[in-house]
Amino acid sequence: MKKNKLMKMIKTGIVTLACLTFISGCSSKETTNEKGSVDGDKKLHIVTTFYPMYEFTKSIAGDQAIVDLLIPASSEPHAWEPSPKDMANIQKADLLVYNSPFFETWVPKVEESLDKNKRPSFIEASEGVTLMEGTAEEEDGEEHDHDHGHAMDPHVWLSPALAQKEVETITAALVKKDPKNKEVYEKNSQDYIRQLTSLDQSFRDSLKEYAGKEIITQHAAFGYLTKEYGLKQVPIAGLSPEEEPSAARLAELKTFAQEHNLHTIYFEELASPKVAQTLASEIGAKTKVLNTLEGLSKAEQEKGLNYIEIMKNNLKSLVETLSEK
Ligand SMILES: [Zn+2]
Repeated sequence: MKKNKLMKMIKTGIVTLACLTFISGCSSKETTNEKGSVDGDKKLHIVTTFYPMYEFTKSIAGDQAIVDLLIPASSEPHAWEPSPKDMANIQKADLLVYNSPFFETWVPKVEESLDKNKRPSFIEASEGVTLMEGTAEEEDGEEHDHDHGHAMDPHVWLSPALAQKEVETITAALVKKDPKNKEVYEKNSQDYIRQLTSLDQSFRDSLKEYAGKEIITQHAAFGYLTKEYGLKQVPIAGLSPEEEPSAARLAELKTFAQEHNLHTIYFEELASPKVAQTLASEIGAKTKVLNTLEGLSKAEQEKGLNYIEIMKNNLKSLVETLSEK
C-alpha cells in the first residue's frame, strides 16, 4: 500500500515537472474547463449572440480579435434557436458573449451539451446586474401558453447606464482570455464607455422634466430604461413580443391611454406591429418607433446606424412624444 502511494506521488511529481517544461500546453488543460488563453499570433475568435452584444464586443476588440454575429441582425432574437451549423461555429470559438439566460434561453443547454475541454468560455454580459422581475401588468393577465414562472427581465442593454456594466464585463473576459492585448482592449473599452456615459447624460438631462410620465410600448423591453430615467413603461405584450395580449388587456390599455391622455403608441420594426397599430387606431393615437435594438433592420444597417445612434433616435422620439402633452 505504502509503496503504491509513493509511486503515485512520484508520478504526480513527474507530471508536474512535465507541465513546468511545457507550461502552455498543460496550463490550458489543467487550470480551466474550457479552451485556455490564446497564444502566439493567433487571434481571439469571439462569437456574439445578437446585435448589441456584437457592437459592444467589436468596439472593445477592434482589429485584435475576430468577432462574429450569430443571430442575423434582421431576425427577431427572442424565439431564435441555434442550428447544427451554428453549434459547430460556437464550438470553434474561444469566447461566446451573450446577454442573459433569460434572453438567449438556449445558451445553458448549449453550454452543457459541448465537450468541457473543447468549448468556448461563455460570457454572460449582464452578470452582476440585478435583474427585475417582469412587470405586474403582464402577470395579472390571462395564463400564458408556457408557464415561465416569474420571468426576469433581460432587456438590460437598453439602459445606457447598464450597457456600460455589460461592456466592462465583456472587457474583463477578453483581457483574461487574451492578456497580450490587454492595453488595446482596455483603451478601446474606455473610448466606448465614454460614448455611453455621454449618452446616459443626454437621457438624464432630456428626460428629467418628464419624471413619472407613462409610455405605451409594444413589448416590455424598456423596463430598465424607464426605471433609470424616471419614466413608467406600460407594455402591450409581455417580456417577449410573441406573447399576445388578451382582449381584456387591450380594453384596459385603451381606457388607460384615454385617461392619461396618451397620444402615441410605440412599436418595433423586427416584431409584427399589428397589435400596437390596432390599439393606436382604436384610440386615434399615432404610432412611432421605439427601437429595442434586438436587431438592426436592413435599412438601418445600410444607413450605418449603430447602438449609440439608435439610442439617440429613441431619446428624440421619447422627448417628442412627452413634450406634446
Ligand atoms: Zn424583448
